[in-house]
Amino acid sequence: MDLTPKNPSDIVQRLSQYEERLAAIRQKGLKLDMTRGKPSSEQLDLANDLSTILTKDDYKAADGTDARNYGGLDGLPEMKALFAEMLGTQPANVVVGGNSSLTMMHDVVVRALLHGVPGGDGPWSRSKIKFLCPSPGYDRHFAICEHHGIEMVTVPLGSHGPDLATVTKLVAGDATIKAMWCVPKYSNPTGTTYSSEVVRRLAAMKTAATDFRLLWDNAYAVHDLYDTTDPLDEILLACAEAGNADRAIVFASTSKISFAGAGVAALASSSANVADAKKHLFVQTIGPDKLNQLRHVRFFKTMADVRAHMQKHAALLCPKFETVTRILDRELGGTDLASWTRPRGGYFVSLDTLEGCASEVVKLAEEAGVKLTPAGATFPYGRDPKNQNIRIAPSLPPVSQVETAMEVVSLCILLASARKLKTSASR
Ligand code: PLP
Repeated sequence: MDLTPKNPSDIVQRLSQYEERLAAIRQKGLKLDMTRGKPSSEQLDLANDLSTILTKDDYKAADGTDARNYGGLDGLPEMKALFAEMLGTQPANVVVGGNSSLTMMHDVVVRALLHGVPGGDGPWSRSKIKFLCPSPGYDRHFAICEHHGIEMVTVPLGSHGPDLATVTKLVAGDATIKAMWCVPKYSNPTGTTYSSEVVRRLAAMKTAATDFRLLWDNAYAVHDLYDTTDPLDEILLACAEAGNADRAIVFASTSKISFAGAGVAALASSSANVADAKKHLFVQTIGPDKLNQLRHVRFFKTMADVRAHMQKHAALLCPKFETVTRILDRELGGTDLASWTRPRGGYFVSLDTLEGCASEVVKLAEEAGVKLTPAGATFPYGRDPKNQNIRIAPSLPPVSQVETAMEVVSLCILLASARKLKTSASR
């Protein structure tokens, strides 16, 4: 058996062996994709009844609203109630949107740029502004900033959340820092859940900007892989208790509960922020797709139904996540060539190579037929300062493909590390 060598000189000695093994894999013509965090078709099948759940003459919501018609700007009452329970607030504090929470986040940011936010002193676009970006993080958040010319300030994401010393110092001293992106539960891509202390301090910290916002993307609120959930404190409550009721805007969707891209999204926040959002929405739309909301509340009557459904997702996802960690443990365990997260929920595993090796690993893997998320994607501007983070998305391919892909990735890490160690040794 080819036991993985544990010390650098053994690894360098095996360089040509790794090259040969990878060359042999290239001949196989693999075509594996571990890039985007999409649900598999088996997961999507779990919600197929959504397509037929509305029967003829059955389009009325609980309050008598005809879901086929215009109106109901902030959503059907029963949809608002379901999201309120999911997000730890009251239905009155929820605005149900369309199919995408990312769209709602984008719109919140653009509205702030054009009009400002409650408690602020005018449009954010009047001057240069910055957002804090805990990283590794979600590339689409960073894309919103980049697209609209908002400067991104990277802050380290630790195992309990963003580094508080860095965050509190920055926000206290710089009034141009207007917001911070947060994925507080099973963070994309590290799987981190913010601790109570982190939530409490983010809610209470002093900010130089009077209109500072936490953009709290709770995309993985109910996406546990195991029977126990990572507890997450209610940010809206924490903010209200700290006297900063308007600070957090919470987002979520059913994209990875029902259908990705054909689910229902919502935001939740203080009365002032909700009133502000509705004021703008009134101009933007005559109402959301209430038929899709009705389908969802007929399918998921209560949060207990949502949780039971998520257990079925977990049963499909868990073997894939465990395959990723099993192969990495087997191929790279004890080598110090890489480290990886063991998420208890969400959609990703975060993998760190030796410094300077991530882009080489992604390139080698692509040449061998395994597509990975581009190195750097998990950092603002696509630039990972240490060039070491790779996001692994195991949800879509079947277990057998996840296994093969991770064997290839592990080999690419061995090869890239051997090359780096050889170069360092020859200096
Ligand atoms: N937020 C995070 C952290 C995500 O990982 C994703 C999808 O990968 C989304 C939001 C997208 O959500 P939606 O489909 O509701 O736009």
